[in-house]
Amino acid sequence: MGTVDEVDAPQVRQCPGCGAAVAVNARFISWCAACDWNVDPGAPDPERGRLAVFRRRLAGRHGQQLAEEIERSGKEPGRAGPDRSTVLAFGVSLLVHSVTGGLLLTAGLLIIGGWGIGFLPVLGVVLLVIVAALLPRPGRPPRHAPVLYRADAPQLFELIDEVAAVVGTTGVHAVVVDTAFNAGVSAYGVRNRRVMYLGAGLWEVLTPQERVALLGHELGHFANGDVRSSFVTHGALRTLAHWYSFLTPNPVEGFLDLCVNTLVFLPRQVVHGLFLLLDGLTMRASQRAEYLADAHAARAGSTAAAVTMLDRLLIGDAVEAHLRRTSTATRAGRGSHGQEAREAVERELWEGLAARIGSIPETEYERRRRVSARRGHSVDDTHPPTHLRRRCLAAAEPQPGQVVCDTSRAQSIATELAPARARLTHTLLRDNTG
Ligand SMILES: [Zn+2]
Ligand SMILES: [Zn+2]
Repeated sequence: MGTVDEVDAPQVRQCPGCGAAVAVNARFISWCAACDWNVDPGAPDPERGRLAVFRRRLAGRHGQQLAEEIERSGKEPGRAGPDRSTVLAFGVSLLVHSVTGGLLLTAGLLIIGGWGIGFLPVLGVVLLVIVAALLPRPGRPPRHAPVLYRADAPQLFELIDEVAAVVGTTGVHAVVVDTAFNAGVSAYGVRNRRVMYLGAGLWEVLTPQERVALLGHELGHFANGDVRSSFVTHGALRTLAHWYSFLTPNPVEGFLDLCVNTLVFLPRQVVHGLFLLLDGLTMRASQRAEYLADAHAARAGSTAAAVTMLDRLLIGDAVEAHLRRTSTATRAGRGSHGQEAREAVERELWEGLAARIGSIPETEYERRRRVSARRGHSVDDTHPPTHLRRRCLAAAEPQPGQVVCDTSRAQSIATELAPARARLTHTLLRDNTG
């Protein structure tokens, strides 16, 4: 005759490795904190491309070196002046852009100077079209996700402004809310307007103060000038990526394909080499920028909030699984017709998510931290491994946090975000119908 509490209470077993007591909980993996028995029983990471493996290894190496430097100094990572690699990267980028400029100039000369001379103008137009198609263009905010402006969410923008002031920058022009378990910043349009991406999957599982830390990290990238300074180098990387796919060899069906493939072979290798070089040169600076952004996160939201925010980054798979499972189950079950049903689905998706993630015990976080350290996991290929970011935050002097987001403030922001969340619910249900 067990009560609910008794059923949920963790049982204990003995570690087969060292005999220590190990908590058993049906929802989580049993593992031993004393000897690491069963700490990482998951499948090996999926096989990834050579480039991704190379980038991750490079990111891991720089991340490790920088973390050791930061830990040794016991201070926040300094804002380093441009080092040799950054200057070199800038030079390589200018070279790439000057090739684009040279091709445009050639096209212009062929059209104007060659006017009336056989097919020269036609050649010029063809060249112009190719270069124009490969030109990196100013981005624009996506249309598939809700975009919020100041009038849509005054409280959210006010919080962003406040955090921005603390980290030494200004707020953003637009906020894009999507379902991702991530966040980010960039600039778009010819006027270079600032945009922040907030993934609801991540936002919804953070405490109000962790959200402040997240905003601090993202706005820290503006404060450090990462978005601006990477404009030239990122533009060059994008151009190279465009060229690389443009120069992809055709499947050989005839003599002509063979000729074209032979012709593009060398340029393609050069483009590939330049891409790797530029990427490698910018990697260290971008890793340093991440540690620096984490320091901003702590200043805005507090060191404690920044640390637990990083912990949440380790449970992305659990969040994604919940959203997928709940939306699929809803479709299969009673459907989502009618206002009441829709609201119930929304609650199950998002409030259910917060409850589920809130019930993850500290031992599971600790297990994931150890797995992250073993596998060198990071949020993506450009961020330093999460466990190193956490260590660097802990090494610096603890920050009390300068921006406070209390429950009532969090509540009014949630109300502002509600229409966007309803749209995202709709998207999730549509995408998970199979
Ligand atoms: Zn053990
Ligand atoms: Zn970042």
